[in-house]
Amino acid sequence: MDLELKLLPAEKRRPVPELKNLVFGRLFTDHMFVMEYDCERRWHAARIEPYAPISLDPAAIVLHYAQTIFEGLKAYWGVDGRIRLFRPWENMQRLNRGAERMCMPRVDEEFVLSAIKKLVWIDRAWIPREKGAALYIRPFMFGTEPSLGVKPSHTYLFMVILSPVSSYYQEGFNPVKIYVTDEFVRAAPGGTGEVKAGGNYAASLKAAEVAKKKGYTQVLWLDAVERRYVEEVGTMNIFFYFDDELVTPALSGSILPGITRDSVLQLARHWGLRVSERRISIDEVIEGIETGRLRECFGTGTAAVISPVGALYYRGKEYLINQGQTGPLAQKLFDELTAIQYGEKEDPFGWVTLVEG
Ligand SMILES: *Cc1c(COP(=O)(O)O)cnc(C)c1O
Repeated sequence: MDLELKLLPAEKRRPVPELKNLVFGRLFTDHMFVMEYDCERRWHAARIEPYAPISLDPAAIVLHYAQTIFEGLKAYWGVDGRIRLFRPWENMQRLNRGAERMCMPRVDEEFVLSAIKKLVWIDRAWIPREKGAALYIRPFMFGTEPSLGVKPSHTYLFMVILSPVSSYYQEGFNPVKIYVTDEFVRAAPGGTGEVKAGGNYAASLKAAEVAKKKGYTQVLWLDAVERRYVEEVGTMNIFFYFDDELVTPALSGSILPGITRDSVLQLARHWGLRVSERRISIDEVIEGIETGRLRECFGTGTAAVISPVGALYYRGKEYLINQGQTGPLAQKLFDELTAIQYGEKEDPFGWVTLVEG
């Protein structure tokens, strides 16, 4: 498939604003990638064009039944002036697994990744230069067919938009306080929890609001069946460091398989740590806090990389973890991952892909 370039002439491009203190996901670059799908032509009309609103039929299936998936990755401006993506092939594969689960057409991973690289290169002036800041890349796909029948759409749009983001930690690590909910669930066995389907996030808003009202920034989700086993925190995977064992919930079907999660597992194993993917009950976590066995707890995801958890609320009580401070393992993982992302350290795992003109 050809990729058509319909670029803004230099004089029509916006001056890049100061890329500091940005609110996440509010500012977008000059261009976007679009391609269209229908059953006869399959994917076609791939192009990079000026960022602009799109028009949709009010009956478009996505607006009523949420047939939509997305991805999230970042482009980093390296200390050597080169632009890097972190494990983008994993995002392409996860996107296609999501497409399959949601009865949407697969995309050509190679083609989409090359289009993303082209788009990032075209809008590279929008990549913040400070360490920690990056250009967030949001690929997404949705059903556009006008139809109120509940069925897979026959037509789709696939798009990629770019948003410069500030460092998550402008004033250093700030451990988050999390609220364990046994009232709401994020995902159930057999559901769509293991793919980035839009509806999952709409369904999680209520619990986040309840948590926020009580002064907590994230929700810790328990399993839907017994409300006993830990699954994820907010839109991050979660890790516990007990004594000499680093533990994360095993991928159960209702947990999103995070790329940061996988990178932390690989790094920790590479360092010789004892690492387990298994079930962890909330009782084990509370007991670990009370006995001092739980040394650290942190979330992992593309946005924050590592997000230390300083306190946990469960059934009317607040528990402090590591005196509310960032632990040494969380710090070491953060330093190592970001050093690879920004080209400060060698990349022994082959995780990084360069973006070049
Ligand atoms: C995206 C996401 C994650 C983290 O995935 P990464 O690939 O590490 O960014 C974890 N949980 C949920 C629910 C997510 O949507």
